[in-house]
Amino acid sequence: MLIALYERIKASRGILGYAQVSILCDELELDVEALMIELLPVAAKFALPPISKFYVGAIALERTSANSGNLYFGANLEFSDQALGLVVHAEQSAINNAWLNGAKQIDLIAITDAPCGHCRQFMNEMHNADALSINLPHKRTSLRRLLPEDFGPKDLDNHESLFQSTKQALSFSMTISDALCETVCRSYAPYTGNYCAVELETNKGRFVGGYIENAAYNPSLSPLQSALSQIQMSGYKLEEISITNITLVEQEGKKNQLGVVKAVISSLGYEIAIKEVTAYGL
Ligand SMILES: [Zn+2]
Repeated sequence: MLIALYERIKASRGILGYAQVSILCDELELDVEALMIELLPVAAKFALPPISKFYVGAIALERTSANSGNLYFGANLEFSDQALGLVVHAEQSAINNAWLNGAKQIDLIAITDAPCGHCRQFMNEMHNADALSINLPHKRTSLRRLLPEDFGPKDLDNHESLFQSTKQALSFSMTISDALCETVCRSYAPYTGNYCAVELETNKGRFVGGYIENAAYNPSLSPLQSALSQIQMSGYKLEEISITNITLVEQEGKKNQLGVVKAVISSLGYEIAIKEVTAYGL
């Protein structure tokens, strides 16, 4: 059954819809929290950890909106030829997946292993961090218990938060796709003001990634990491797909992402001209 579910989740790019979740809960006689723990091995199956060989899976649940009950899967992603700082952690992957796909908040995250300090800080950027539940295979806890005496957005006088940030009104130096436009405008960049996103055109379809900044800066997720994580959560290894075009949209006067996009893309063996688009505040 887990293999069939893996195939289904791949096809829906890392999401298990609430209707299917509800059917599974009935069939297996489990509540959703227990189901999430049962599905963690499926999440970890998406992991691509060539360096650590440590497979981590995470599943995020939104309880309170039109998408209520959806499960958003995530897994760790490592790059053999790049600085370790560019690794995407499973919790970041699941939260990025939820955020890109319209979730309004995350109420609960299940993880195969205890979250590292980097991920505790990443999760602390969410508006409901004080209420976030964290379930591990043999323990139920909360972000506050794992990250007491926290440093967060308010310490930098930032009153925005991830999942509840102001949507930007932007114009662009050239026409971009609706999905890319939506992701740029919703990107979370309260510290640098570089509202940005990237679109990768591949032989397996288009993948968009958005920028998620963090009060501690280092745990921020770049748009390229965000998009590559989406490719991974569609079940593709990065070396299996062919990227044919890259469009990077960044904010006028605030650009800071081109270097990392070039470095990571060239480390994957590509020599592609990156289409640079400038976004202007209205
Ligand atoms: Zn982590």
